[in-house]
Amino acid sequence: MITSLEQLQKKLNLTEEEKAWKESPQSLPVLITDYFFNLIDPSDPSDPLRKQCVPTCFENMSDGLETPDPLAEVSHSNGERLIHRYTNRVALLTTDICAQYCRHCFRRRFTGNMQGPISDLEISQACSYISEHPEIREILLTGGDVLTLSDSRLSHLISSLREVSPSLVIRICTRMAAVKPDRITDNLINIFKSFKTAPFYLMTQFNHPRELTPEAVAAVSRFVDAGIPAMNQTVLLRGVNDSADTLEELCNGLISARIKPYYLFQGDLVTGTSCFRVPLAKGLEIEKELRKRLSGLAMPVYAADLPEGGGKVPLCGSYIERKEGNNWIFRTLDGSYRIYTDPQL
Ligand SMILES: *Cc1c(COP(=O)(O)O)cnc(C)c1O
Ligand code: SF4
Repeated sequence: MITSLEQLQKKLNLTEEEKAWKESPQSLPVLITDYFFNLIDPSDPSDPLRKQCVPTCFENMSDGLETPDPLAEVSHSNGERLIHRYTNRVALLTTDICAQYCRHCFRRRFTGNMQGPISDLEISQACSYISEHPEIREILLTGGDVLTLSDSRLSHLISSLREVSPSLVIRICTRMAAVKPDRITDNLINIFKSFKTAPFYLMTQFNHPRELTPEAVAAVSRFVDAGIPAMNQTVLLRGVNDSADTLEELCNGLISARIKPYYLFQGDLVTGTSCFRVPLAKGLEIEKELRKRLSGLAMPVYAADLPEGGGKVPLCGSYIERKEGNNWIFRTLDGSYRIYTDPQL
């Protein structure tokens, strides 16, 4: 495990930008697993895996538009840990700890700030809120990384949730398969298997095809084999995966590993992450190109989580050119035109 810039300096030939990174109250700690570090090509200063975990001084900058909480999660929270932004689903911040800290993390206002795992009291508070809100059908167990919880804490959390709401669909949101696949043990999988009243979904975060190692794929397979579908959320990151070629390879690799590409996220306006953000026009171009190259199954939804808590919206160009009477004029993916006619009632 690597936990400091000094340690990194001994292992990598650091760039000027990396050396100039300053730890600050707003910054995320340095934490890189040995497994992930070994996937980095040390001879390439712009290695896409390196960029995701080795900090640079760009993180210490803010472009003036960025804020710590652009999604207004704090004002949509009940207590410190339960975010209720959409009527029928909530996100629970189960811990602020991760196995590895991503330099692009959008929840850095909370992540790695030493609050620690959710307490018994906080679990029962979340449970009473859920029991008072029967409209909640799904919960996202997130953080931080929920799989940094001990098996016993996780088991207690799930059984408490299922007690108040047996049909609650639970999403396990974790980067663990990509950064520490050996955390996915038999014991962990058996915990999920022991709760049978409603499904779990595994939500992974793979950002680059080189993260889909045999170990990572095997870790996800353990969930899928146990009947837990796997969905992936990729963050669109400048210099990491902002090309149609890279994302095409990633999405096809995910499908081969039985992981459905779910979202491709546009970067949020979070303090210290501007170096990772891709201009929206470029993102839309990539989306358009991917739609040509990928199957419907392999195609994620490109989405932005809008500032001031506006919520998630899909991003894609329109294929509707115009409407003439009952006729809708469409542009096809290869740029020709077709007419779809409404019923003449
Ligand atoms: C993204 C998110 C969800 C889940 O949204 P889906 O579009 O259903 O994946 C739920 N709650 C919060 C606070 C979120 O940010
Ligand atoms: S695993 Fe998730 S919460 Fe943790 S640092 Fe990465 S993006 Fe942030």
